[in-house]
Amino acid sequence: MGIYLDLREFDSEKMYTPSEPVRGLVLLRLDRSTVISYVTLSIEGSARTSLVKKGPAFILGSDTPMVADESHQLLKLSKTLFPRANIPGLPGGYTLSEGEYAFPFEIGFPLQSQCSKHQPELRHILTVLPPSFEAHAAGEGGVARIEYILRIDVKRPGRFKEGTSIQRKLLFTPSDPAPHLMPLSGSGYYGRHGALYINNLAKSLKAAALYTPGTVPILLLEGRLPSPPILYPDETLPLHLFVRCLPTQMEYILPVTLRSLVIALDSTITVTAGTCHTSWTSSRKLLNLKGLKEVVSGVQGTEILSEINNSILQNVTIPMVTPSFTTCTVEQKYSLNVDAGFSLGVTTKLRPIKVVMNVEIWSRTGPRKELYSAISGDLGRSEGSNLLVPLRPRCLAHLGAVEAAAEDRGPPPPYS
Ligand SMILES: [Zn+2]
Repeated sequence: MGIYLDLREFDSEKMYTPSEPVRGLVLLRLDRSTVISYVTLSIEGSARTSLVKKGPAFILGSDTPMVADESHQLLKLSKTLFPRANIPGLPGGYTLSEGEYAFPFEIGFPLQSQCSKHQPELRHILTVLPPSFEAHAAGEGGVARIEYILRIDVKRPGRFKEGTSIQRKLLFTPSDPAPHLMPLSGSGYYGRHGALYINNLAKSLKAAALYTPGTVPILLLEGRLPSPPILYPDETLPLHLFVRCLPTQMEYILPVTLRSLVIALDSTITVTAGTCHTSWTSSRKLLNLKGLKEVVSGVQGTEILSEINNSILQNVTIPMVTPSFTTCTVEQKYSLNVDAGFSLGVTTKLRPIKVVMNVEIWSRTGPRKELYSAISGDLGRSEGSNLLVPLRPRCLAHLGAVEAAAEDRGPPPPYS
């Protein structure tokens, strides 16, 4: 047919955000004179989910029985590249002679999902556009795919005239929410703890077996993150760990020695399709230390709250992961899991304590800090406030904001 389309000056590896428009040049080459109605450019986004369950009742003529699937059109924006805005479109099109034509373009992502506009018949959550994403539940049969594409179409007049189109994948990540929407805790940090419980403490150190699981806490492990607990990929994990010996028969548990420390970032994905939903968690180890001999609390009566040597945590970084997000049918949230093994007194038996800290992962992408300081500090200069990015729905519930505020009344001093 002799119509060739190409894209130049376009970065297919770039991570686009609402403040980073997609730019490039569309090249149209015609090897003979051709009638063209118009050339359009569009960006489209979709969130597709499916849930599959094994079972003879659901077999649909294949080995993969399908339970449900759902698709949300997150975005569809179009721009006409030809004819140009000041030239009227003609029903019969325009004849372009043989040659090469270049159409520079710029098209931006909106802040919010537009699926409620495209599919009013479905249930939606009004929220920001989610990031490009793909996840499969291992063995569970859940799939979620969030995709954005850039598409160029050449239309020719007449019902039977074939057009030409090309499309490219776009990588997208939403801008971070406005930090001032996050409540700060009064203590300046976000703390969570786990405890070691016992029923009996041995009078004789030989009777170590009497350290049985029970209801009396003797040792607390406390994890602290800056408040609010937002982590950023490729940055050092700002975690501090403290050990608190409770006064119950302390003479039998000192010294407390840290023997092992495992820190993992867990990602929980919840996928909805139709009336079905499923969740699964995958874990990524950030630190795995065994054979430690780190005495963390040794002198009776003087060290009630001891910080675990922070150099152990210095090289722990957050991996490059998709930020926390919630959209109509997919949610991804994170927690930090600390598993520490201690030995008490002169015994060598390992006593495990687990601390789970729910966190948000953000991406450090615009709107820029100056904008937010302008909004919170000087309302007169907040002309960009239409860019205010809201928090992820259910974000505060995930972080347990109410519970944290209650805990913050406790005595532990903030770390410096
Ligand atoms: Zn939707």
